[in-house]
Amino acid sequence: MASTSASDSEEGCLLVIILDVHPCLASNEGEAEVYLNTVTAFANLHLASSGANRLAIIAANHAQSCYLYPDQSHEEVERQIDGRLELLSHVDKILHENLKKMMVTTTIFTQSESLIVGALGRALTYVRRIESEDGLNKKINARILVIKVSTDAGGQYLNYVNMYLTAQKMRLPVDMCVIGSDCGLLQQGADITGGLYYKVNSVDKLMQSLMMIFMPNLDSRRRLALPPSGSVDYRAACFCHRSLVDMAHVCSNCLSVYCKAVPLCSTCNALFGMEMPIRKPPKKKKND
Ligand SMILES: [Zn+2]
Ligand SMILES: [Zn+2]
Repeated sequence: MASTSASDSEEGCLLVIILDVHPCLASNEGEAEVYLNTVTAFANLHLASSGANRLAIIAANHAQSCYLYPDQSHEEVERQIDGRLELLSHVDKILHENLKKMMVTTTIFTQSESLIVGALGRALTYVRRIESEDGLNKKINARILVIKVSTDAGGQYLNYVNMYLTAQKMRLPVDMCVIGSDCGLLQQGADITGGLYYKVNSVDKLMQSLMMIFMPNLDSRRRLALPPSGSVDYRAACFCHRSLVDMAHVCSNCLSVYCKAVPLCSTCNALFGMEMPIRKPPKKKKND
């Protein structure tokens, strides 16, 4: 590649975008188009800003998660057509092709949330793979960005927490950008992994937020006046109904959370003693 001499300090950044493509997007066609175009433009911007930058995009809908880019079946980049950078038009083409494959023809879906957490797992293993492929097992400069549109039901709570703790251990920041309503689970993830959490009110504000907040790398962010993250909703989801609770019963063995008292822990099968009413010990009669 005929790039300018890249010193070690300019090693570039591997950005893994996790894109929510829940079928609920289809309810507003214009909005869906703006959404996908915005994310594509942001991906292009990331690649164009440095020759050393790398990109991966993983999409998640209600039923599956799948790699959109890079795509192993499209190894070679085609010739320049319209004066654009070859790589960028290549990215656009692959994204469109793979999204089309992923689109479901029926709009019937029972799950209101996407399998973001599955895509997050894929992203973590992808970063790990690139690290090991780079040789010397050197830690690479990588981060993950989750863009979410669907509503959140807390059904995958434990999986999310596992992913967050893994990312934290890998020192991999996970940025969260949610559109519409706040999502406590993602807020926790950004806080745990050292990423940024930001809520965008509507899709047409997405580009601005992506450029101003999620484009700068971690070093530059320290020098920027970014919007305050606010207080993090650290409620846990109970293991019985998957709903977020303020107060709960916790298994003393495995720390599973239950919104009601249960006789048996469904995670570790620990038996809890039945709650007995507290009785005063019988008074001993003094025998003279
Ligand atoms: Zn419950
Ligand atoms: Zn337990």
